[in-house]
Amino acid sequence: MIIIINPSTNERQLAQLQQEIEQAGCVVNRSADGLRTIFGLTGDVAKLDPEQLKSKPGVEKVVRLKEPYKKANRLFRATNTLVQTAGRQIGGDQLTVIAGPCSVESESQIVSIAAAVKAAGAGFLRGGAFKPRSSPYSFQGLKEEGLELLKIARAATGLPIVSEIMSVSMLDRFEQEVDVLQIGARNMQNFDLLKAVGQIRKPVLLKRGMSATIEEFLMSAEYIMVEGNENVILCERGIRTFETYTRNTLDLSAVLALKMQSHLPVLVDPSHAAGLSWMVESLSKAAVAVGADGLIIEVHNDPANAKCDGPQSITPARFADLMLSLRAIAQCENRVV
Ligand code: PEP
Ligand code: MN
Repeated sequence: MIIIINPSTNERQLAQLQQEIEQAGCVVNRSADGLRTIFGLTGDVAKLDPEQLKSKPGVEKVVRLKEPYKKANRLFRATNTLVQTAGRQIGGDQLTVIAGPCSVESESQIVSIAAAVKAAGAGFLRGGAFKPRSSPYSFQGLKEEGLELLKIARAATGLPIVSEIMSVSMLDRFEQEVDVLQIGARNMQNFDLLKAVGQIRKPVLLKRGMSATIEEFLMSAEYIMVEGNENVILCERGIRTFETYTRNTLDLSAVLALKMQSHLPVLVDPSHAAGLSWMVESLSKAAVAVGADGLIIEVHNDPANAKCDGPQSITPARFADLMLSLRAIAQCENRVV
């Protein structure tokens, strides 16, 4: 349930209203955009009588949210969520670019790619240490050693690191060592993992499950938010369709739908969507054109010999060229990269 506050309401009336709602066992999530104040209510909302609420001073409108996601709902907050981490902002007029290899392979590999993507203007370094591979015989990542190497790359370049967490048992380590925790497509509905990352405050990059609807995706975000972690970043990474030319089908309309339905930042991963490196630049530009808040792109110094996802990885040189184009597009739209 949300309450839209009458703009003429003073602070004393707001505090009074908030107190009354809290006494009824609800939590008030207050937000304002300078013009409007919204009370987003969670907790025992069923006990509240909307008609009674409407008669209280300061209340302009009471709306029951029909969607099954509340805190992630655009109506629940007066402004877009800006996720702040490691001195950087994700969302708003910032175009975030996260780049790096699918998986960390060695110190020289991750440090050299980190330096290259940093020089080109990336804001974050990505690198998988724990890899969710479809085949148990495929390279599963360097695991803990991979995290150590990511930290070396961060120290060498200053780039914050994004890495995928696959198990609740690794939460403490990820919370302490990683700047943005990625939850992969295969774990989008791993509810124990979602609840666990909801307990911390580090940002979570939540990727869309390959067969998940927009509503299911937002309900997964809600699982994290309802535990208290509101630093959620959504990522469209392609969905399964009948088409086999590409690895997945990039659902660019999902960016628009997610931004319509939610206040959370939305990134696009053109690499896993296409599975083909030659499409990555064009899809990146298309994603920015439809309003994505940023991109996560796989970059490898030697794609032909990558241990994971080489065919969809672009080289540092191509990434640098792409950044020039993205900068130009961002400038046209009064956004910064
Ligand atoms: C990845 O980012 O390397 C990855 C495994 O992505 P996804 O979960 O989208 O498949
Ligand atoms: Mn990958």
